[in-house]
Amino acid sequence: MVKLHPCPICKKLTDNEKYRPFCSKRCADVDLGHWFNGDYTIAADDCSQAAKTQTSDTELNQEDTTSVTKF
Ligand SMILES: [Zn+2]
Repeated sequence: MVKLHPCPICKKLTDNEKYRPFCSKRCADVDLGHWFNGDYTIAADDCSQAAKTQTSDTELNQEDTTSVTKF
């Protein structure tokens, strides 16, 4: 029994096992190209935003601690 699934790149129905979920090496390469070109940057953006938030939080906490110590 062959299971057909749509290729995420060209939407063509395929039963190719070697390049799953893609229909061919060409479509697998196209997807790889998206990563290299930075089309999928959601994860990276989350990381840098989290790092920025953490840094500013730490700075604020340090300032609070300093003023508390002075008084
Ligand atoms: Zn394809």
